[in-house]
Amino acid sequence: MNPAYRRVLLKISGQSLAGEQGFGISPTAIQQTAREIAGVAALGVEVGIVCGGGNIIRGISASSEGISRATADHMGMLASVMNALALQDALERHGADTRVLSAIEINQVAEPHIRRRAMRHIEKGRIVIFAAGTGQPFFTTDTGAALRSMEIGAEVLLKGTRVDGVYDADPEKHPEARLFDRVTYADFLQQNLGVMDGTAISLCRDNKMPIVVFNMSVQGNVERVVRGEALGTRVEA
Ligand code: UDP
Repeated sequence: MNPAYRRVLLKISGQSLAGEQGFGISPTAIQQTAREIAGVAALGVEVGIVCGGGNIIRGISASSEGISRATADHMGMLASVMNALALQDALERHGADTRVLSAIEINQVAEPHIRRRAMRHIEKGRIVIFAAGTGQPFFTTDTGAALRSMEIGAEVLLKGTRVDGVYDADPEKHPEARLFDRVTYADFLQQNLGVMDGTAISLCRDNKMPIVVFNMSVQGNVERVVRGEALGTRVEA
C-alpha cells in the first residue's frame, strides 16, 4: 500500500521518549521511535516533527511546585529542545538527514525557526524537528504542532500518544472507556475530551487541519498510519 500522505506533521510527546522508566530519555524508546520515523521518510513521505518536553518538565506541574508559570514554561520549552537534539542524533544513526529548528533562538545548537527555511529543508527530503513549541509561555507543544502543521502545509497532524486514540473518558483510569474512531472538532471541544488541548484543537478546526490520534507505543504504527490504515481516532469537521 502506498503512503496516503505526501507531507505530515508528527507530534511526539515527551512521555513517549521516556519509555518504561517514565522520566527523561530512554535509549531504547528513542531508538525505536527514530527507526520508525526514518522508515516512513524512506517511503518518500515528507516529515516534520514537533517534540514535547513533558518527560523532563511541564510548566503547569513545575509552577504548582513554586516556580512562576512563565519561567516554568520557558524551562519546558528548553526541555523540548533537549528531546529534539536527542531525536536528531538517533535519526542520524538510522541514516536520516535532519535539521532542528528552534522557536527560541539557541544558535549554537539549532537553527532558528524560519518558515521558509523549514520548507526548503522539507523539500530537500530532510526531516525537520521543530523544537521549543510556539516559543511562547502558556502554550503547549500540541499547539506548536498544530501551528507548524499549517505552516508547512501538512495534509494531516499525526498525534502519537500512549493510548489507542480519543476516548470518552481517560482509559488509564476508566477501563470501560469507549474509543472513538472519528470525532468532530466541535464534539471534542464541547465534551472536553482529553489527549490534546483545546487551543490546538480549535486552531486545527479554524484551519481545517485533520488530526489522527494514534498509539505510538505499538511498533509499526507510525508506518501504518502514514499508509492510511484506519488506526486510532480521526478528528475532523
Ligand atoms: N511549552 C510552552 N510553550 C509552548 C510549548 C511548550 O510554554 O509553545 C512548555 C509548557 O510548560 C509545557 C512544556 O513546555 O508543559 C512541555 O511541553 P508539553 O507539555 O506540550 O510536552 P508533552 O506533553 O508533549 O511531552
